[in-house]
Amino acid sequence: MVDSKVVHITTLKAVIHPKLKIAYAISQHCNFLWTIQWLERIQTESSQANALNSKWSITIDIKEENAWIQSGATLGELYYAIANKSNVHGFPAGSCPTVGIGGHFSGGGFGTIFRKYGLASDNVIDAQIVDVNGKILNRKMMGENLFWAIRGGGGSSFGVITAWKVKLVNVPSVVTVFNIPKSLEQNATTLFMKWQIIANKLPNELFLHSVMGLDAKSSSDGGKTVAVSFTGLYLGKQKNLVPLMENNFAELNLQHDNCTEMSWIQSVLYFAGYSINGSLKVLLQRNKTSTSFKAKSDYVTKPIPMSGLEGLWNMLLEEKNPTLIMSPYGGRMSEISESETPFPHRNGIIYGIQYLVDWDSNEETPKHMDWIRKLYAYMTPYVSMCPRLAYMNYRDLDIGVNRENTSYEEAKSWGMKYFKSNFERLAQVKNEIDPSNFFRHEQSIPPLSA
Ligand SMILES: Cc1cc2nc3c(=O)[nH]c(=O)nc-3n(C[C@H](O)[C@H](O)[C@H](O)COP(=O)(O)OP(=O)(O)OC[C@H]3O[C@@H](n4cnc5c(N)ncnc54)[C@H](O)[C@@H]3O)c2cc1C
Repeated sequence: MVDSKVVHITTLKAVIHPKLKIAYAISQHCNFLWTIQWLERIQTESSQANALNSKWSITIDIKEENAWIQSGATLGELYYAIANKSNVHGFPAGSCPTVGIGGHFSGGGFGTIFRKYGLASDNVIDAQIVDVNGKILNRKMMGENLFWAIRGGGGSSFGVITAWKVKLVNVPSVVTVFNIPKSLEQNATTLFMKWQIIANKLPNELFLHSVMGLDAKSSSDGGKTVAVSFTGLYLGKQKNLVPLMENNFAELNLQHDNCTEMSWIQSVLYFAGYSINGSLKVLLQRNKTSTSFKAKSDYVTKPIPMSGLEGLWNMLLEEKNPTLIMSPYGGRMSEISESETPFPHRNGIIYGIQYLVDWDSNEETPKHMDWIRKLYAYMTPYVSMCPRLAYMNYRDLDIGVNRENTSYEEAKSWGMKYFKSNFERLAQVKNEIDPSNFFRHEQSIPPLSA
């Protein structure tokens, strides 16, 4: 929180709730009368405002290969709705079904088919936003500048996006999934070195990420060891995947036995950690977790050398439950220019890293926060620099926060990391549509004039 009038990052989501809840949620941080006036304006603006009073909806049009999704829906609900209509359509967004459409789409949104189709935000073709004056605007009405900004720049700096229109993508009726875990004793270091060379150059149809963590079982001395899981999704059959892997990553020794063919929606279940033979209805669950976690992110443009990995393994062994998810870029991501949308991490990125640590009890918080910050400091020489890049959807307040009336120049300390030179255009758009900086929070875009 910057001051008592700030709209907290999470409260904007309340707009998808019935109107009294909206008033309640927003008025916690804003002038109450102003809020009510704002809501009245929204409600008289258009009959479309009725959408604010109902549950979110998802409308899939298979013939036109597009969908309208209200922001309160989750990724799981979107995937479920698509699967109910077609087994050869999908959407390129994140792996976790409980993630909300509103934040995810407006910050980018990558998942297992983003090397083929780009980000969720790359596939948005229209949107509906409530601006600071309470007007409901579609793409044509908001103009291309604002439409550009909300596809990767974070919606919460610009207004409340009530719905998104996206184009659906084609997926084959059969895809193939595999997971090969390797501990340090099983040559994980050499395999990861090779993975860094090939992961972003594989055909767009193949997503092969690596996940690092600890493994209590496979260490030679009975203690913990580091393990790297190489997990892949191939948009095609295993008979084509196995030779493809043999040609590109023979060291992993992928065999037919390691592969499972399934439908695309089953692969969604797989990457979400569910049984692929269970009911798709698990995608509709909105489970809450009581676990605390801290995440940070980085981008790698040169392979990390062996010496860097050895130090990284030592850092992982210091923590109880560390996870590093390395997501390969390349493919479609390299074909889209850095300024096409606010999301700038395109050509030249080998992979993105998400550092993750979770814990149960509040007393443990300082210990785990210290560890992840130490790890982030350790990684400095091995990741992008000037600026050190970060993924906006993995919000990290350690890299900088706004204070009251933060200027554009001051906000560049964190803004350039998320957006590179797109940050300036974001600040210009902000100045055009919300010059009084009503929509603000710890890392909202400041108006360029500030
Ligand atoms: C368990 C987990 C798994 C994840 N997996 C992935 C993944 O696979 N790929 C990936 O790219 N990211 C992933 N993320 C990150 C995720 O994309 C972001 O956390 C995203 O911001 C979540 O959006 P939300 O609406 O659920 O969250 P919220 O916390 O509700 O919102 C996040 C931000 O967006 C704003 N916002 C939300 N809705 C709206 C709206 N309608 N209009 C304007 N602003 C809005 C909020 O104000 C806030 O600033 C994951 C996160 C978690 C917690």
